[in-house]
Amino acid sequence: MKLFRFGPVGREKPGLIVDGVGRVDVSAFGEDYGEAFFGSDGPARLARFYREQPGQCPQVASDARLGPAIARPSKIVCVGLNYRDHALETGAPIPSEPVLFMKASSALCGPYDDLLLPRGSLKTDWEVELGVVIGKTARYVEESAALEHVAGFVLLNDYSERAFQKERGGQFTKGKSADTFAPVGPFVVTSDAIDASDLRLWLSVNGEKCQDSRSSALLFSVPQLIAYISSFMTLLPGDLLSTGTPAGVGAGRTPPSFLKPGDIVEFGIDGLGEARQVVIAPGAAC
Ligand code: ZN
Repeated sequence: MKLFRFGPVGREKPGLIVDGVGRVDVSAFGEDYGEAFFGSDGPARLARFYREQPGQCPQVASDARLGPAIARPSKIVCVGLNYRDHALETGAPIPSEPVLFMKASSALCGPYDDLLLPRGSLKTDWEVELGVVIGKTARYVEESAALEHVAGFVLLNDYSERAFQKERGGQFTKGKSADTFAPVGPFVVTSDAIDASDLRLWLSVNGEKCQDSRSSALLFSVPQLIAYISSFMTLLPGDLLSTGTPAGVGAGRTPPSFLKPGDIVEFGIDGLGEARQVVIAPGAAC
């Protein structure tokens, strides 16, 4: 099952991609893709609703804006340095435990929305990542039961302002949380429909391939991460876990290279679709 959201910013409606039919509007179902939906077996209930009442679900216009594929989650938990080659390119030691940080949920945006450089940005960088959408409250979860707590998987970009992240008093969060720093989508694939343990993920800037790896290269796997994170905080249905980025970020290049207005960032993960941002100067939008 593929879930997406569409419509104007802040007024997105839920949609469903149906084999042989295409993108349909399922707002008649009456629920958005948030905590209440994922926490009550929403995907299965929605599938039943669609089977019984497809007549209530019109096609979505082909030019509709795509919103973030999930409603704003209670939190976005990110994992740093979770690919060996990326840890090496940053000069950091290979972590012995997952490195965790938070990204503001207000950073969420659609997969084709512009990337707005924050005021004062000099070092905005890209990070294609495999995202995990939580489907069941996860608290002290065993690794063997971790995947039962996953609703689905999604493509995202953990955009990062490196100066804010590393040169402004420490702690990653400042560099990770600007508006539009978390494009999510185009769609969530429910966990029954994809095996995310070995998916190719890639990213290019202005047509030049920068990142190209596979989720099988994660230092800490999705089940390990859910078990680990849930020993420090409760993951709620609809929460988003971003599993880390492979090598090829701008900060890892010689010389380092960062985004500037007019750049085009394209990225994708096998089975989870593709996304694209045009980079916009600070103050060019509000
Ligand atoms: Zn990241």
